[in-house]
Amino acid sequence: MASESVLAGVELGGTKAITVLARGREIIDRKKIDTTTPEETLGLLRQHLDVWKSREGFAALGIASFGPISLDPGSRDNGRILATPKPGWSGALVTETLTAGLDCPWRVDTDVNAAALAEWRWGVGREMTSVVYITLGTGVGGGFVFDGEPLHGALHPEVGHLRLRRAPGDRFEGTCPFHGDCIEGLISGPALQARFGSVAAEVPDDDQTWAFVQHDLVELIEAIALMVSPQVVLIGGGVGMRRPFLLAGAREQLVERLGNYLPHISSDTVSGFVSNPRFGEDAGPMGAIALAQAALDDSRSQSSRSNRA
Ligand code: ADP
Ligand code: ZN
Repeated sequence: MASESVLAGVELGGTKAITVLARGREIIDRKKIDTTTPEETLGLLRQHLDVWKSREGFAALGIASFGPISLDPGSRDNGRILATPKPGWSGALVTETLTAGLDCPWRVDTDVNAAALAEWRWGVGREMTSVVYITLGTGVGGGFVFDGEPLHGALHPEVGHLRLRRAPGDRFEGTCPFHGDCIEGLISGPALQARFGSVAAEVPDDDQTWAFVQHDLVELIEAIALMVSPQVVLIGGGVGMRRPFLLAGAREQLVERLGNYLPHISSDTVSGFVSNPRFGEDAGPMGAIALAQAALDDSRSQSSRSNRA
């Protein structure tokens, strides 16, 4: 049965990287390392994969990576990190290092597209044809899955860098090195730290500044709802998962600001439209496994096509 294949996944994050081994969607082993230089990090991840490959064996590999990353199947650049402020990582050949000589199908995508894929396949987005996953964590990003496929264009969506309408009275200049007050510059974990002047995780829920953060989050959700009209927007990441009041307030404001313009988003339906993802803190590892499952499905349908030909 397809769901019982052994699958491997890599979540490559900006601060940590995780390799996981799963049977179907059940994780059976995981290893976590710090993200340091590309040579050291990718070398260690590859070692973990090689050990599992020779010991347990796995049928496919999924790689869920931080971005921006080139996604161009068939090209040597597929899975190469693009210009990034993260020292040493611009141009890193993530996929080539992790897959060279590995005898199995694989897929690479952004961590957020992967998380959206896992939610579509096994989580809150089951039975849906359009799922958006937003991370509010070290960065802000959005993953889009339509008809079971992650959305790519020339690159991949980068909604975290949209510049949206500012909250009235908010004078915070933002922390994005590229854009200042884009949405990531306003509400990522490090932006919150700069706004509040203290560790984001320790700021009390009743601090007035959260109203600005909530405003900005609603701008992002509204932009996405108007632009691609998903059936659900899932808010994950460290900030998204650990501050439930942000989501509750965001729902109310979203309905108000849309002004009944989108009839499927009303006070009766909004709690289904904006919610937390099922996999929460495991979004990355489950995303990587969902990519592995997609790689396996692709290779099976290709081989059944060539058998028929
Ligand atoms: P990553 O984005 O690196 O995968 P997370 O999604 O866990 O990691 O997000 C980490 C960010 O979330 C950090 O910037 C941290 O300060 C912030 N964070 C973690 N817990 C909280 C909290 N309870 N309230 C606000 N911010 C938090
Ligand atoms: Zn930006």
